[in-house]
Amino acid sequence: MEPVFCFHCATMFIPRNRKQYYCSRPECQQARKTNWQRIKMKTDPDYRTAQKLSKQKWADKNPDYWKNYRDQNPEKAERNRMLQTIRNRRRSTRKKAPDVPIAKKDVRINMIFQPVGQFWLVPLIAKMDATKVNIYTISDTWQ
Ligand SMILES: [Zn+2]
Repeated sequence: MEPVFCFHCATMFIPRNRKQYYCSRPECQQARKTNWQRIKMKTDPDYRTAQKLSKQKWADKNPDYWKNYRDQNPEKAERNRMLQTIRNRRRSTRKKAPDVPIAKKDVRINMIFQPVGQFWLVPLIAKMDATKVNIYTISDTWQ
């Protein structure tokens, strides 16, 4: 067979058959499986129900898992809280859309916002991971 590019890592490999789009590297096989499952969840209601039941069963057997996970990964828990707040805000503004003004010209005049501290930059359009940034004030002495 002719070598082809892997769908995940884009390296050349020789597929075993015409349907093989991913190379044999573990991370590429994981990407293939994740993609398959994403499609299956969208298109197969029986599979979706079975997955939901399975997850529920597992969660019933491991009731402290998520609490422990949040305790052990406070940064990830905080990130998730931020992203959920954004999702909630988006959801609530979507419903109120006709009442919300499109542009507010004088918004900067009354704004008392000190952009100093630690923030998450969350992309609104593309599905990408948020980036943590630290914003500091720079004293006038730099000039
Ligand atoms: Zn690959």
